[in-house]
Amino acid sequence: MLKIENIIDLSDNPKAHISQEFGVPWVRNPLEVHNGVDIAGLSKFTKVFATGKIIKAGYHFDDPIHAFGNRVAVQFAPGLGLWLCHFDGIPDMTRTGKQIENELVGFVGSSGSSLGTHLHIGVKDLITGRWYDPKVYINLATVMKNG
Ligand SMILES: [Zn+2]
Repeated sequence: MLKIENIIDLSDNPKAHISQEFGVPWVRNPLEVHNGVDIAGLSKFTKVFATGKIIKAGYHFDDPIHAFGNRVAVQFAPGLGLWLCHFDGIPDMTRTGKQIENELVGFVGSSGSSLGTHLHIGVKDLITGRWYDPKVYINLATVMKNG
């Protein structure tokens, strides 16, 4: 199981907390459910790390509501992708197809459809396109107690 500490350095972010859970009516459109977990209380430009094969890297725009902004997705387990979204920026070396281990993939920001600085974490079934609750795959205990 991944840990949130594998993704962001919490020692620099003592106020990190879950600001919106998976599966609840989505703050951006209450007719839909939130397809990931939002971590707020993070300093802008906080470094975000990932391990796996990069499958998406760059700016995502679907429509003004469904825009992940600058986002990186990595295949972290067979058939499963980890989406890290709303970055302020992505390092130039973060390229699709690359295998990475504990590598910097972005800086926390508020790009795309976002109401403020936060990190949206999504876990997607790469075959069906279905979103899963990230808490099943990522231990978020240390950011749940702050919420
Ligand atoms: Zn979100």
